[in-house]
Amino acid sequence: MVKNKGLLARTCKKCKKIIDEKSLYDYCPECFKKIEEVFEKIESYLKEYPGATAFEIEQETGVPYHIINNFVRDGRLIEMPNEYLNFECKRCGCLLLSAHHKYCPTCREELEKEMELAKIQLKQSMNHENAKMHIRHGENKRKK
Ligand SMILES: [Zn+2]
Ligand SMILES: [Zn+2]
Repeated sequence: MVKNKGLLARTCKKCKKIIDEKSLYDYCPECFKKIEEVFEKIESYLKEYPGATAFEIEQETGVPYHIINNFVRDGRLIEMPNEYLNFECKRCGCLLLSAHHKYCPTCREELEKEMELAKIQLKQSMNHENAKMHIRHGENKRKK
């Protein structure tokens, strides 16, 4: 039982489980771990793409917008106005709100596949890597 010494027992902000009064965090250890994992995801994305919008982070990392907003409320993320944004995907026209990407993740995947395919085709056509190209005159007189 938790003894109430005139103070309200501290509860996890997320799952409402009672936590140690002396805990450094407002979350129980399990929730804290989950939150940290999510935050690290956002953090590493922001390292690669500084100033990414919440919308973009959600789209790219799969972290829901309201969770990103929680970090803003907790003061772990700071919102800044964005001067330059690509509002929509240049390929499919879906909402993008990104200063970093011109295409949505789906289209980027598609484009990458197309690029890979083009590369493979290019490689195939250059199978004889160091071969010099000659215009063939008449019959093929290949010397062994
Ligand atoms: Zn919890
Ligand atoms: Zn798209």
